[in-house]
Amino acid sequence: MIVVLSKGVSQHDKEMVRIYLKDRGFAVRDQVLGDDEVIGGTGKGVVDLRELGLLPGVERVAATSKPYELASRESKPGNTIVTVGTGTSQVKIGGSRISVIAGPCAVESRDQIMETAARVRESGAVMLRGGAYKPRSSPYAFQGLGMQGLEFMKAAGEANGMPIVTEVVSPEFAGQMKDLTDMFQIGARNMQNFELLKKVGSLGKPVLLKRGPSATIEEWLLSAEYLLAAGTRDVVLCERGIRTFETYTRNTLDISAISVVKGLSHLPVIVDPSHAVGIRAMISSAALAAVAAGADGLTVEVHPRPDEALSDGPQSLYPEQFERLMRDIEALAPVVGKELLRTPRPSAGNVLKVSGKSGASATEAVSPSNLPIAFSGESGAYAEQALMRAFGEEAPRLQAASFRGVFDAVLEGAAGFGVVPVENSLAGSVHENYDLFLRYPDIAMVGELKLRIVHCLIADEKASIENISIVRSHPQGFAQCRDFLDKYPAWQLEACNDTATAVASIAREGATKVAAIAGEAAAKAHGLRVLKAGIETNPLNYTRFVIISRRNGSNLAPIPPSLGSDKPNKASLVFSVPDESGALFSCLKIISDRGLNLSKLESRPIQGQPWEYQFYVDVTIPSTEDTFAGAVEELRTRTENFYFLGEYRASL
Ligand code: PEP
Ligand code: MN
Repeated sequence: MIVVLSKGVSQHDKEMVRIYLKDRGFAVRDQVLGDDEVIGGTGKGVVDLRELGLLPGVERVAATSKPYELASRESKPGNTIVTVGTGTSQVKIGGSRISVIAGPCAVESRDQIMETAARVRESGAVMLRGGAYKPRSSPYAFQGLGMQGLEFMKAAGEANGMPIVTEVVSPEFAGQMKDLTDMFQIGARNMQNFELLKKVGSLGKPVLLKRGPSATIEEWLLSAEYLLAAGTRDVVLCERGIRTFETYTRNTLDISAISVVKGLSHLPVIVDPSHAVGIRAMISSAALAAVAAGADGLTVEVHPRPDEALSDGPQSLYPEQFERLMRDIEALAPVVGKELLRTPRPSAGNVLKVSGKSGASATEAVSPSNLPIAFSGESGAYAEQALMRAFGEEAPRLQAASFRGVFDAVLEGAAGFGVVPVENSLAGSVHENYDLFLRYPDIAMVGELKLRIVHCLIADEKASIENISIVRSHPQGFAQCRDFLDKYPAWQLEACNDTATAVASIAREGATKVAAIAGEAAAKAHGLRVLKAGIETNPLNYTRFVIISRRNGSNLAPIPPSLGSDKPNKASLVFSVPDESGALFSCLKIISDRGLNLSKLESRPIQGQPWEYQFYVDVTIPSTEDTFAGAVEELRTRTENFYFLGEYRASL
């Protein structure tokens, strides 16, 4: 049983809770679980949970039905997010991100780990793995470079802005490794080495706990319990394949363990496809399957020359294979409602660069800021989901009543950034926001993000589909659920400013004949029920959000690492052309001649000027910036009303 104590509980009240439990036959233990201070009670004692919940200083009581308590979801319903490392290269594991760890099986030399670290970092890995002490099946196999290997690894991690994770094989080594590694790995063979677990857990560092090759899920979680009970708060579970009768692959990847563990525990779960499968050609598909199944991340073995590897060469990916895998993960992530975690690279300059209207790049003096990020709508809005994806769940937020309110908040400096939708893959451009960019020339696009949209029909607990007569949503919500709505022609559709506002209005009114089309998060945020999920016409439904910021403001903040800190590779422009033959063609020719890839071209009537049109254009920026700046200058001279909306890192 877990007793979660109130924030700022007094020593006296805490002691009274301990005495209460001891008097009733429990062994008690103080613990910290996430942000909560808890008292764990184990044993066969009997207690009146309601009475216990009423004691001073008690926030809530969770009676766990599992043999593990601290690791159990019953004791902590929310997901634990584990933080590894410090500073700008800090990595979070869990929540809505996919964090990828990569590196060689073993550290073989300074050069080898340096080269591997640079290659995997280039492809987007955020943490470096590598064994300094190798537990090998044969006593004659390479045993690792020991502490020297760990020192090489730390240097490689620092040079590339990556926290490191390495295996600890014995309690005696743990103390000396503590200052060099950012995260300890408990290897599969040591999962039930309880003295090792107790020692490593007591050091308080994050731990990656591999599942033993013959361990049941319950045994695995009990090992996590050892670590948590010994004092660490940060445990990440790692499925790495189990022994089955099948011998074709090295082990059998227990893909369903991911969702089983996520149901049982609040701890993040990552997958090691390398040790699970053991055959290079089959690692990437297993890795993608793990992401599709809900893994919070991966740890993958990569070697610059696998044929020369001193251990696990046959399962080590070539750097090119890893790069391809990372691109595939990035494309898959939005399908499962996640974002591939990116952290700033030390060399890449992790501050925002905003271009002037002319497109000529000018690096601004940028000061970090803790200003909130603005979005339009009620809590649970898709824009809020996008915001959390880009800036993290904990990011301070500012709710605006309209898209215009988001632009105002950013312009006036009440918000450091804003998040607005610009395009949906089913319903097309959000013209209102394009128009706002034209009216707010001091606001620029500085990032983009794609969010998968799963619409739900949401209503009061007591409502049923048969009784619904009114449906509220944003017009885009109606457009994206056309086929579903066509089945209910009697429903009256009422447009709202955004989908979450539609949900909030039903909650406020207590209406039982009204439903809303919005995301599941909005239903949760307002305590309503999902009558039907996935009602969008096509499940490949994505909305592209852009991050906006002030062009010349002092409130510019570091770019969110999840959006990539590398050089911008995409730009958005709006222009109109003179009413003469070949005018649009000559603009497209400039784009083509300079080798820019046109990824969007849309024409739209100009407000107040009947039968005149402007063009929305997205282009990729080639690596030679001069070409791009030149193209922009030339376009400006050939067009009328040229607007440079911003340049940013494209999301896949
Ligand atoms: C490793 O990750 O280096 C390793 C030895 O894996 P496992 O403990 O899963 O066999
Ligand atoms: Mn290995």
